[in-house]
Amino acid sequence: MILKAPYIVTMEGPVLKDHAIWVEGEKIVRIAPQKEFSKNGEIVDFPNTILLPGLINCHCHSELSQLPESLPYPGSFVLWIDQLTRLKLQMSPTDTEAGIKTGIQKLLEGGTTTVADHMSIGTDLKPLLDSPLEGIIYIEILGVEKQRAENFYQQALKIQKTKDDKFKIIPTPHAPYSLLPEIFAAVASTDQPLSIHIAESAEEFLLFQENAGPLFEFLQLKGKTPPANKETPVHYLERLGLFPDRCMVIHGNYLEDADMTIVSRRKASVVHCPGSHAYFEQDRFPLGFFLDAEINVALGTDSLASNETLSMLRQMQMALKNYSELTPESVLKMATVHGAKALLRENEIGTLKAGKLANIIGVPFRNAGRSAYDNILLSEIACFSMIRGIVARGIC
Ligand SMILES: [Zn+2]
Repeated sequence: MILKAPYIVTMEGPVLKDHAIWVEGEKIVRIAPQKEFSKNGEIVDFPNTILLPGLINCHCHSELSQLPESLPYPGSFVLWIDQLTRLKLQMSPTDTEAGIKTGIQKLLEGGTTTVADHMSIGTDLKPLLDSPLEGIIYIEILGVEKQRAENFYQQALKIQKTKDDKFKIIPTPHAPYSLLPEIFAAVASTDQPLSIHIAESAEEFLLFQENAGPLFEFLQLKGKTPPANKETPVHYLERLGLFPDRCMVIHGNYLEDADMTIVSRRKASVVHCPGSHAYFEQDRFPLGFFLDAEINVALGTDSLASNETLSMLRQMQMALKNYSELTPESVLKMATVHGAKALLRENEIGTLKAGKLANIIGVPFRNAGRSAYDNILLSEIACFSMIRGIVARGIC
């Protein structure tokens, strides 16, 4: 199939005008001026459209896309966890499956082609495995009581044996405060990129820093023993030798200078979720510090339990609005090139280039007075989506 468009943003160089992308099987074979392609083969013309790399959503929980009621922020992270746990218990497997299917449609609409999706033990992976999307399914391991944590880990190892061509399945620790260190160590002993909620909330910071606050009290009430050292969440993991190399730090909202050094030394990426960040009314995300420290920052949506949308196009708009350091081009880089780096898949995805997977989306070029990057950032919906050479969503 040959895809022709007036504008192609490859993220490998300047915007290409009147070029075409030749896709064979699941890969891109060649990108060249349209006139160099003969009339042979299936040619699809996209007038007034920009083709660009599929967006990489580095953090999502698609299983939370159909909660029985909307979840207004109750004013505290701990109250939110409590509320979410209660609502999840009310959901039947059919509700969860319907939620995942809703989530998949919303992800595709918003430009995601690759997703790093967290799933709980017991959730059926089939709706996601059967979807057009590709990426990583992270099986979340929780538990600060040994038997419970060990049990979850063993179940996750069984789920990991599921064979799939498009998704890797990786057990991952949920967060530093929610998993017993010895099981954390076992889960983290892998060369796969792990995905861990670290330094997400002020309550988590207070728990590790002061052994105080709502999260500390919540864990005590549950009969679980929080860590007894006065330190940051990042320092806690590093001190115990638990900070995995090249992992994804999900959120990373509350870090001190020394934490930045650890994140940088471990070659970790940070995943910022703009919609979820706003929902929780977190302190300002320290984007400038990460950029100064040359730490890779990618984007994610988080779930519909803490974000009004699963659109990555919308996350880019929010990030651009919030941070004067960003331009339309650099924010798109976060959702493509940086996402690929975070998932350790730079050779496969993140840019449009011969030899890479044909993960391509299209958005309308509506405003002739603005650049292609500006037009992308004005788009709410991807009118076209191809994943591994297969059309997943419409024709512009
Ligand atoms: Zn999350």
